[in-house]
Amino acid sequence: MMYLGIEGRYDLPHHNIHISENYERNLDEIENRHVLSSDPSFYVQNASATDSTLAPRGHSALYILAPVTHQHSNVDWSKERSAFRDLMLKQIAKLGFRGVESRIRYERVITPADWDTRYEVYRGATFNLAHTLDQMLHLRPHNRFEDLNGVYVVGGGTHPGSGLPVIFESARISSRLLLEDFGFDVDWQESANAPSTQRTEKNSQPTFA
Ligand SMILES: Cc1cc2nc3c(=O)[nH]c(=O)nc-3n(C[C@H](O)[C@H](O)[C@H](O)COP(=O)(O)OP(=O)(O)OC[C@H]3O[C@@H](n4cnc5c(N)ncnc54)[C@H](O)[C@@H]3O)c2cc1C
Repeated sequence: MMYLGIEGRYDLPHHNIHISENYERNLDEIENRHVLSSDPSFYVQNASATDSTLAPRGHSALYILAPVTHQHSNVDWSKERSAFRDLMLKQIAKLGFRGVESRIRYERVITPADWDTRYEVYRGATFNLAHTLDQMLHLRPHNRFEDLNGVYVVGGGTHPGSGLPVIFESARISSRLLLEDFGFDVDWQESANAPSTQRTEKNSQPTFA
C-alpha cells in the first residue's frame, strides 16, 4: 500500500483499477506460489479529483493498493520493498499516472511485513482468513470460542467474515452471544435505535469449564 502526496494533480478519475494482463497468473502468484508478480493488478485512488481540500493547494493525494501474498518466506520485504515500490510507480503509468516519482512530496509505503510487525496483523494478511468456500460464513471460527468457555472472538477472521460491513455484523453477533450468556434479554430489532437490555435472574452468569 502506498500513500503519496504529490505536487500538482492528475485529471483522472477518482477510482482507477488495473487488472494484470495475465490475471490468472497474478492470482496464482498471490495465492499459491507466494511470489511477487512482475505485472501486479492494482487500484489507484485519486481522491483529490473529488475533493481538492484533501491536499494543500497545488498538491494532491494518491493512494495505491496492490494485492500481494501474505507474509511468506518466499518474499523478504526488507529486500523487495524498494524494487516493488519502483515497479508500482511504473505500473500506475499504465493508467495515466505518469511522471509521479519526481512529483512526490510525501510517501508512505506499508508492506505485509509492516502490517505484521507494526500493526500486529497476523502474517500481514489484512483481509484475514481467505474467503474460500471452506472457511466462509458459518465455516469461519465461531464468535463464541469453542475451546474455552467465557471467551468470545470478533473481527475479520471470525464468522461471518472480512470487510467492514460484515465485521460490524460479527461485532453484533459476538455482543449478542455475550449478553445472552450473561443473562440479558436483548432486543435486537433492526428498527430500534440501540439494543435494549434487561437482565433476567436465571442464567445470570456464564458457565466456565
Ligand atoms: C489497504 C486496505 C484497504 C482496505 N479496504 C477495505 C474496504 O474498502 N472495505 C472493507 O470493507 N474493508 C477493507 N479493508 C479490510 C478491513 O480494513 C479489515 O478487514 C478490517 O479492518 C479488519 O478488522 P478487524 O477488527 O478484524 O481487525 P483489525 O482492524 O486488524 O483490528 C485488530 C486490532 O487488534 C490489535 N491487536 C492485535 N494483536 C493484539 C494483541 N495481542 N493485543 C492487543 N491488540 C492487538 C491490532 O493492532 C489492531 O488494532 C482494507 C484493508 C486494508 C489493509
